[in-house]
Amino acid sequence: MDERSLKDHVWLSETRQILLARRAELAQRVGRTEVDLHHVHEPLVADFADQATQRANEDVLREIGASARDQLSHVNRALERLAKGEYPYCVRCGVEIGHDRLSAIPEADLCARCAATDRR
Ligand SMILES: [Zn+2]
Repeated sequence: MDERSLKDHVWLSETRQILLARRAELAQRVGRTEVDLHHVHEPLVADFADQATQRANEDVLREIGASARDQLSHVNRALERLAKGEYPYCVRCGVEIGHDRLSAIPEADLCARCAATDRR
């Protein structure tokens, strides 16, 4: 193994650890929002203003839950790609995604250029 592939190997296993930690954290967050949603459902408050607050809280919880689930599926896909040796390549154009971008968003599946095209 030459020096570069050794470095890549170390980097990849570190990234895998980061992704696994992120997956655990996100799974926990998804679980928590579901538990909280069950709780808010319990005693429906009589006061109308309180009901509105309760509904607003539920919406926030649902949003947090949905975004955590979304991120979780990204993280799972990144781990799958990592296992198949398709990480860290852009799923669209196949270019290697920059390490800078991946240290900010380890589950990124698009390179900066493709992601920018997507947002347009
Ligand atoms: Zn790309």
